[in-house]
Amino acid sequence: MSTPLFSGKNAYEHLRVLCEEIGPRHGGSKEEKRAACYIRDYFRSLGLEARLHKYPIYTFRNAESWIRMAGGEEIPCTPIGFSGDTPPKGVTREAAFLENPSVHCLDESLKDRVVIVMGDFDAETKDRLYRLQPAGLILIQSEWHSPVFTGPYQPAMVRKMGRLPSVRVHFNHGMHLLEKAPRELTLCVRTHGEKLSEGHNAIAELRGAGREDEVVVVGAHYDSVYACPGAVDNGSGTAAMMEMARVFASKGSLRPLRFIAFSGEEMGLHGAKEYVKGLREEDKKIKKNKDFELDGLKSEMDRIRFMVNFDMLGTRYGTDRAWTLGERDIAASLRLLAAERRFPMQVNEEQIYSSDNMAFNYAQIPSASFARTGGTRPFGHSTEDTIDLCCAEALEITGRFCEAWMERYVTAIHHMPFARRISEDSKGVVDKRFKDGDFLDRPVLTPERKYKASPKKREGRK
Ligand SMILES: [Zn+2]
Repeated sequence: MSTPLFSGKNAYEHLRVLCEEIGPRHGGSKEEKRAACYIRDYFRSLGLEARLHKYPIYTFRNAESWIRMAGGEEIPCTPIGFSGDTPPKGVTREAAFLENPSVHCLDESLKDRVVIVMGDFDAETKDRLYRLQPAGLILIQSEWHSPVFTGPYQPAMVRKMGRLPSVRVHFNHGMHLLEKAPRELTLCVRTHGEKLSEGHNAIAELRGAGREDEVVVVGAHYDSVYACPGAVDNGSGTAAMMEMARVFASKGSLRPLRFIAFSGEEMGLHGAKEYVKGLREEDKKIKKNKDFELDGLKSEMDRIRFMVNFDMLGTRYGTDRAWTLGERDIAASLRLLAAERRFPMQVNEEQIYSSDNMAFNYAQIPSASFARTGGTRPFGHSTEDTIDLCCAEALEITGRFCEAWMERYVTAIHHMPFARRISEDSKGVVDKRFKDGDFLDRPVLTPERKYKASPKKREGRK
């Protein structure tokens, strides 16, 4: 094995730029584009051919929200993107607290009220609540040490359930709200609807030296959820992917390595799905020509053999983990290398890792996803996923293992050992995740709900 080149310090510097200089970068925002350009320009500085792949994405901007009680006291809260908007002055309604939300305790009395819930609830209960048409929803974070999540609802869910302006409240503030037990409160949520914007994947290609038709994608999503610096998730994985590009630009590779920084992952894997969708369309076009093989044509889709994914690394003290989907020898190769190096890696075989790799899995391309977990989970998708959760040494530990594994099984090996196949069982699970045509359909705008004047005001006018 050659000298390891992966530098945790280099990766950490990319991480610093992404989450400190650029900051939160949710899909379709101008910070997202800034990050994409930063990554593309870095690829170019390595002498790689690099471009931005643009695609339409629905996003929201400058979300804001507040809760006001009758005496004027306000409760701090965080808006949930895509949930829906109230009028700018908010809606004043009777409050209803559901301590144990279950489908059995929901009734017509919740219609038009502001519903307060501890924690979250299951899909059936949520569905029933939405049908009852409350005026708004306040979710109190159920773990008191955890910061408030800032992630939006998935647009697919909003399309299915409709709109219900929603906020999250920190446990402590939630307790205060419940102590005050206001009969009535005013809730304002402004996420300014869904706006059609542009998402960007930054793509670079390192040419192969002989195995041109065996492309390996090395990917990581660089977007974060709204208002979240996205250090662990996933400035860290992006930083490692960028450093890996430097490593192999220097070492060279038998196979082409296609480095892709995906966006829109946090809104539903949009960047990866759009990229794979493009490949599928081209593949179909080529294969319309029955003699495509005789003509020496090979679709880009068929050229891609494997996907390596980095999502959530850099955790100071943690456990390195890998999730593999494809044939069993992917997991075996990781276990073998881990044993040789006495590297404590946990390998989860034939398991879904919900990240960009899934879009490739859907297209029958096997994958290995790397993460390093350790105590930072409560900070994920919040304003506290900051750079001090990560360190250069941790990035280097994972980076060097992945460098060695890639060199042995991808970039330097004559015959690539992993078949381009997904087992029937895993295929079933992946297909199920993309049910309802979610994979191919572009989101459609969901209409905003119309608020009537509050019942009290109507009475007043009589
Ligand atoms: Zn992530």
